[in-house]
Amino acid sequence: DTIGENFDRTVAAFGDREALVEYATGRRWTYREVAREVDALAQGLLNLGVRVGDRVGIWSPNRAEWYFVQYATAKIGAIMVNVNPAYRVHELEYVINQAGIHTLIAAREFKTSDYAAMIDQVRPDCPDLRNTILFDSPEWTDLQKPSERREWPELGADEAINIQYTSGTTGFPKGATLSHHNILNNGYFVGELCGYTENDRICVPVPFYHCFGMVMGNLAATSRGACVVIPAPAFDATQTLEAIAREKCTSLYGVPTMFIAMLDTSDDYDLSSLRTGVMAGSPCPVEVMKQVIERMGMREVAICYGMTETSPVSTQTRKDDSIDRRVSTVGRVVPHVEVKVIDPETGRTVPRGTPGELCTRGYSVMLGYWNEPEKTRESIDAARWMHSGDIAVMDEEGYVNITGRIKDMVIRGGENIYPREIEEFLYTHPDVLDAQVIGVPDVKYGEELMAWVRMRPDAEPLTAEALKAFCTGKLAHYKIPRYVHVVDEFPMTITGKIRKVEMRAEAVRLLS
Ligand code: ATP
Ligand code: MG
Repeated sequence: DTIGENFDRTVAAFGDREALVEYATGRRWTYREVAREVDALAQGLLNLGVRVGDRVGIWSPNRAEWYFVQYATAKIGAIMVNVNPAYRVHELEYVINQAGIHTLIAAREFKTSDYAAMIDQVRPDCPDLRNTILFDSPEWTDLQKPSERREWPELGADEAINIQYTSGTTGFPKGATLSHHNILNNGYFVGELCGYTENDRICVPVPFYHCFGMVMGNLAATSRGACVVIPAPAFDATQTLEAIAREKCTSLYGVPTMFIAMLDTSDDYDLSSLRTGVMAGSPCPVEVMKQVIERMGMREVAICYGMTETSPVSTQTRKDDSIDRRVSTVGRVVPHVEVKVIDPETGRTVPRGTPGELCTRGYSVMLGYWNEPEKTRESIDAARWMHSGDIAVMDEEGYVNITGRIKDMVIRGGENIYPREIEEFLYTHPDVLDAQVIGVPDVKYGEELMAWVRMRPDAEPLTAEALKAFCTGKLAHYKIPRYVHVVDEFPMTITGKIRKVEMRAEAVRLLS
């Protein structure tokens, strides 16, 4: 199926069921109603001159119109380009020109960012940009007006339909070009493993701009007739918890930092409707997973692992896995995909239990990075394996543990150290809310470890001595961080990932 065919099939089967809810505004649509919006918009885009393969940018926080644009572009074969809501002028200009955006659909503003002004500023330097349309403007109303139906193009499921930029955690974001087949199948199988039916209501506080929202949220829902609940334009713990309680959501998504924030007050809400959900995006601390199951009642919550370039999910835990595996691994490979763990030097598969680089192959691997053949060749090898840059260990039964990113591994005095192991240990400190460990340059050992910690309210700031005392006898001496830095927040991407590159740069400043 193409995304449009799959969507129409769901509309035919579940037309009267609720498809989409904006909790913050109270707006809601059934499948039949969203289909009307989507078809009118698809028609409007055709009238505007958008053709198969043209790039249509979407720059907006989460709102219903984002979803309409996703399905309208998919129906007419325009390639939707997800523009990061946190972008500023410079990055906006880059993405418009890099993807060759033909039509840009945008919110007027978001938080302190005046999108409309930024678009005006970059327009003279964006020669390919023909149209810009702001939500709630007369042009937008026109675009969505039902009009005489033109002939819709024939589409192939393996054609490009979406360019998604990676989070930019380790450097500059790269545009992954994805087909209908890539993302629709991935959404479908995430839904399969979460056991979604038309009775599920999925609370999506993660950005639609990222695959977690638009594939694991929207596509997983529409491929099964489930409903998407948008709690607010951007993540807010209180509004998310309220939305779950009032809208009786059965599933909840989030990156670990979001769950950490929600656990602060989750006991004050009736979350009894919650059954399942997904934690993903960065290492999921065992402690946080346990709390989510016990206190938020998410009995069947899954951990997913993946990357934008693989549509995104490669491995996922299942509800019938042992509880120990469900909180401490990223599960096993998902249907119709292969994963292997290799020695990045030799390219050979390593024995089970040995750390190496995780690689993925199958329907989910992107077509390539948009207009960057060189980078594509560096990541996808001749046998179509996508090299992740993540270090993983696979056990005898296929369960995978992600121990970190190759770029974040610390080599201290010749020992390979995976920060994840130390972070997990620091979470067990009663005063520590969140912990991150990085390597900093050191004359004697090459690198030394530095822990950044967020303290619980009312706790005394952790000192290097106290940390040492806590770790001694429990961690090997070379894994005990030499430095501690207490912070209120970590530097983060909009997808909720911690930017260790930025932490390392800051640490160098702190130590000099
Ligand atoms: P960039 O590639 O631009 O540096 P990014 O890799 O963070 O950014 P994404 O594609 O959004 O961009 O994220 C994919 C990465 O997220 C994976 O390569 C992995 O490092 C991390 N990740 C995703 N899920 C998990 C998980 N469950 N556990 C540990 N790490 C995860
Ligand atoms: Mg990446």
